Amino acid sequence: MTTRLYTHPVFLEHLTPAGHPERPDRLRAIERVLDDEAFSALDRVEAPEGDEATILYAHPEDFVGRVRAAIPETGIVSIDADTSASPKSWQAAVTAIGAANAAVDDVFEGRAANVFVAARPPGHHAEKATAMGFCLFNTAAIAARYAQEKHLAERVAIVDWDVHHGNGTQDIFWDDPSVLYCSTHQMPLYPGTGAKSETGAGNIVNAPLAPSTGSDTFRDAFLSRVLPSIDAFQPDLIIISAGFDAHHRDPLAAINLTEDDFDWATGQLMERAGRHSGNRLVSLLEGGYDLQGLAFSVAAHVGRLMKG
Ligand SMILES: [Zn+2]
Repeated sequence: MTTRLYTHPVFLEHLTPAGHPERPDRLRAIERVLDDEAFSALDRVEAPEGDEATILYAHPEDFVGRVRAAIPETGIVSIDADTSASPKSWQAAVTAIGAANAAVDDVFEGRAANVFVAARPPGHHAEKATAMGFCLFNTAAIAARYAQEKHLAERVAIVDWDVHHGNGTQDIFWDDPSVLYCSTHQMPLYPGTGAKSETGAGNIVNAPLAPSTGSDTFRDAFLSRVLPSIDAFQPDLIIISAGFDAHHRDPLAAINLTEDDFDWATGQLMERAGRHSGNRLVSLLEGGYDLQGLAFSVAAHVGRLMKG
């Protein structure tokens, strides 16, 4: 079995204002780096059309209606100070959800060893009823609930190594002990949540990292907090909220990781997926705003996934 990659041209058509860090070129940089011969064994599949009904796994209907109503006929509209939508944003967001859910199907039905979804917009800041932080819907949360609904997964772990705290994922699963949410993130930093003391129903594990720290503190947080929590939880599926903005080149944060750290963390989670989850591992792109840092980090991450 191989590593599967989902992409779709519509992900380039979710437009943001000029100068916005969350831009289509991010995916072009990923496409270019994965074009290398080293990735010829990747099973590249166009993301399927998403099922809009699955958005309701994580978001209330009136909120979904409000997002849909905000999508413009032309141009770009602001949803909040740093979140925007263009005419194709709805289709992009729903297709990202379709890809994530298909990835869940793939690992439960044995079509792929593991899956990386290169989509935008990202999702981990989207709370139950608030689109924010470049995110419209919480793709990872929807995929976790989809695994529970469709494949009867009892426990799903979401590991979020994006440099920003996934306030949205934490909000959605705050009182749901069937989903473990573990996050490493810079603190203080946007969105301001993610203190160690925020533990939900005992299913939220935050590992904040001080600005200007790097590999050692990140790996220590993984080894001392994230991995033991996964071992205790014994998930049926591991979903990675894979943001690459903790890379040292990233302009939005001050954590100094390198590609090697993402390679290492990927390997650690694959090992846990092997131990607890029948190897079922799905990785969803979140942030990462320096094109070179993003591309090299994705190459390390996907390369590690392909090693099996
Ligand atoms: Zn981020």
